[in-house]
Amino acid sequence: MHRFSRRYFVLFVMAVFLSGVYCGIHWNSIYTRPPEAPSLITDAPNTPESVFSEGAAAPLPPEESPAAPMHAATAPSPTSDAPDAFAAQAVAAEKMPFSPPLSSFSLHKLGSEGDPTLLVIGGIQGDEPGGFSAAALIASHYTIGKGAVWVVPDLNFASILVRGRELHGDMNRKFADLDPKDPEYDIITQIKSVLLDEQVSLVLNLHDGSGFYRPTWEDALRNPKRWGQSVIIDQEEIDAPRFNLLYETALKVKAEVNQTLIDPVHRYHIRNTLTAQSSTETAKEMTKTLSYFAICNGKPAFGIEASKEFSTEYRAYYHLSVIESFMRQMGIAFERDFELTPQGVLAALNSDLKLAAYDNKWMLQLDNARPTINFLPFKKGAEPDIRTSKPLLAIVPEKGQPTWRVAYGNRTLTRVNPEFMDFDDSLDSLDMLLDGKPHRVRMGDLVTVRDSFLVKSMPGFRVTAIGALKEAEANAAGAHKDFSPPQQPVKKKQQAGLTIAHKDFMPRFSLDKNGTTYRVEVYKGAAFAGMVLVRFDKEGAFVNDAVPLTAISGPESAFGF
Ligand SMILES: [Zn+2]
Repeated sequence: MHRFSRRYFVLFVMAVFLSGVYCGIHWNSIYTRPPEAPSLITDAPNTPESVFSEGAAAPLPPEESPAAPMHAATAPSPTSDAPDAFAAQAVAAEKMPFSPPLSSFSLHKLGSEGDPTLLVIGGIQGDEPGGFSAAALIASHYTIGKGAVWVVPDLNFASILVRGRELHGDMNRKFADLDPKDPEYDIITQIKSVLLDEQVSLVLNLHDGSGFYRPTWEDALRNPKRWGQSVIIDQEEIDAPRFNLLYETALKVKAEVNQTLIDPVHRYHIRNTLTAQSSTETAKEMTKTLSYFAICNGKPAFGIEASKEFSTEYRAYYHLSVIESFMRQMGIAFERDFELTPQGVLAALNSDLKLAAYDNKWMLQLDNARPTINFLPFKKGAEPDIRTSKPLLAIVPEKGQPTWRVAYGNRTLTRVNPEFMDFDDSLDSLDMLLDGKPHRVRMGDLVTVRDSFLVKSMPGFRVTAIGALKEAEANAAGAHKDFSPPQQPVKKKQQAGLTIAHKDFMPRFSLDKNGTTYRVEVYKGAAFAGMVLVRFDKEGAFVNDAVPLTAISGPESAFGF
């Protein structure tokens, strides 16, 4: 693409995303996979988490403009600022700036088309959650003021979803020569074109490596064969217009990051693999990597390793410390909306996990979700049209099962049992009384109430609060000695016009493990017209006991990153 058309394209994408500070591109929408090319995510071996089938991978939804311009991090939390007199409030499902890259990777462009541009790549190996979590946080929790940051948090998304280093061989050995028949050929071609984009001025490839790299032998965990806590360069300098002094840049980063260590033993070192000069086995391996491909094409590039000895939030903390140091050196201005500590990183990773489908016909709040969500409406005869509040979130069909798995990086947040049905598109909001006060609530929103809610009657529509058994009905039913509550949600009931309180619900039908959040679904005949979520919150205190991202040490190549 020549300069003008590329510029035009970037401007177009930015206009689509309103704010000009965020945009996400899915490679599927730009690169068309040849029909005969096998889908990357068809056959994940050796794992019960192997979930994909050829026809089931959802096509990506069109790159629509989210109605709200900012990224997910700015979506109001329902209760984070709970006032004394806790009022009903709605959380919009529309703030879903991401969509899962089911057959490729996603590229998020932050900042303006300015200069310089840092490219951050995570997830080239799927079992290194420190790197891909850090990259995802850049995409969703940072704002770039001056310069630009491009982020690919999920280069090998299929391997991330199955918690493996690789699916079809090590992706970080495919940058020198690659058979066009290789299942990852398209991905490699696509990421190469990103790397070579004339706007990209420096590249970071994020990894989690074993132990702690040390230039001399200290012990089994700390020695020259280890990779953790290192900044890797292939050579001291390259021929590039800027940032060409790789070793000097790495020295500055190392010095800065070593001032933020949680423990002195975590200190970073520079590792020069002497890729071009040396004839060692390691150097030979390094000639096949993404970083060396960039170097050979005049792009300053660094491999960044956090240690696999840490849990994910510590790894991501160190990665972000390194990335921020690079940004400062490059003159890129940034803001981050969480505190840069391992605890702050963990909270940011677990915050605001939402998934919305079919233009917000429904939205799932996934913090603290139950292990299974049953009878979720899916549109009959259509691919699910999913958007997410964060990168690394996706819903994928499970091979040989009726269920779909909601994945967040290496984790499974919940499983969904779909109920396929027709959809009715004639309703975009509900008139509700929330604690007695009138509100118009859009489909896909989550509302929080202290005591009760009511959905006003609409001619032709049926409202059913899943799992709600009004006391009156229960009493009436209880008059019959053989009454027992239904085991499945009853969707035939008309509950519009009824005031429904927390005690009216059978807790096992809640979306969350705490029994606070319930689905209110609307039907027109047999067709699903939309859903809102109602959360009961007496204290106004949000309990988030989501488990941390699992830090797993997968099989690691003897040659490291
Ligand atoms: Zn790696």
